[in-house]
Amino acid sequence: MVPLVIGHYSGGTFRCACCGESQRDFLTIDHVNGNGYKTCKALGIPRGGSELYRWLVRRGFPSGYAVLCMNCNASKGKHGVCAHKLRTEAMKHSVEKTST
Ligand SMILES: [Zn+2]
Ligand SMILES: [Zn+2]
Repeated sequence: MVPLVIGHYSGGTFRCACCGESQRDFLTIDHVNGNGYKTCKALGIPRGGSELYRWLVRRGFPSGYAVLCMNCNASKGKHGVCAHKLRTEAMKHSVEKTST
């Protein structure tokens, strides 16, 4: 069940969409639009764990989910975006600044 879901949402790569982590034990399903806990509860969407995997399979893999590793998932939950992305964005801006 879990490999099926992870495989689908990672496009068969079994990697974190953010950092490329390929250790399957670290991979989780992330709500792309960061549906808050209340939204999930209102729609009856399991927040995580095996319930969420079962739910996704039952729903025929609805869109709006991606594979992230635990680190990226936790970081995204905290900041809204993963710290990896924050760093990339900051780097991009500094490059833009120096090049112009
Ligand atoms: Zn990651
Ligand atoms: Zn990340």
